[in-house]
Amino acid sequence: HKPDPILVADNVTRRFGGITAVDVDHFEIERHGITALIGPNGAGKTTFFNLMTGFDTPNTGRWTFDGQDMAHMKPERVARMGMVRTFQLTKVMSRLTVLDNMLLGAPVQPGEGMFRSLVPPLWRKQEKANIEKAEALLERFLLIKKKDDYAGSLSGGQRKLLEMARALMRDPKLVMLDEPMAGVNPALKQSLLDHIVSLREEGTTVLFVEHDINMVRHIADWVTVMAEGRIVAEGQPKSVMDDPAVVDAYLGAH
Ligand code: ATP
Repeated sequence: HKPDPILVADNVTRRFGGITAVDVDHFEIERHGITALIGPNGAGKTTFFNLMTGFDTPNTGRWTFDGQDMAHMKPERVARMGMVRTFQLTKVMSRLTVLDNMLLGAPVQPGEGMFRSLVPPLWRKQEKANIEKAEALLERFLLIKKKDDYAGSLSGGQRKLLEMARALMRDPKLVMLDEPMAGVNPALKQSLLDHIVSLREEGTTVLFVEHDINMVRHIADWVTVMAEGRIVAEGQPKSVMDDPAVVDAYLGAH
């Protein structure tokens, strides 16, 4: 057990017909660290993300985030509590501009009926703050020149950056990244890595799923290995990645 876990899950299972996609006895992540969740295709990593963030419902299990019981919470509520995630296949809105995609991630949506009509000055102030924050993040993620372009015109890698930037609009406590490096061109990879490391420096906890072993070795403080829905190993990257059993199980599937 870790000294100060931000997410703690117990007995979480998810079955699809005859397949048990997730069967996790115990899982926890330490606050302020970078944890990598690795494992072969079909191990259950994405399903586990979906369960933790309210995008899917488990058959059994309990988990707490920042000390709060999270069962039966909808994704929007989970995000409001400070746990946000990105998707393996990005969910950017192609027909909205890059800036508007960012504003969709804002805690209070400018234009939200009640808020907008009842307190116009407050709404305008909030909108201005949201735009400033969005632009600062776009600057940081090297997308500022694209802010008025349709998100549909971005490359796969730029969409990943946009999704990560959008996730940060809420100042989350925990960011869960599903394969942040997949489809990102090599030139952008280093800056993406730097961004993730800087999140840790700012006190944000990061959990990421990744097949890129180099990335895991470079930035993870802790590695958890999943196979057939179960946690099969965990520890510091060096000891986990050099464990022959892990190498066999993990690399065997590639
Ligand atoms: P990858 O690395 O390929 O993304 P993963 O570790 O994220 O894999 P999951 O996508 O979570 O694995 O899949 C775990 C298992 O659950 C697989 O056998 C998959 O086919 C199954 N599965 C996932 N979602 C569903 C679903 N909606 N309906 C049926 N089976 C599903």
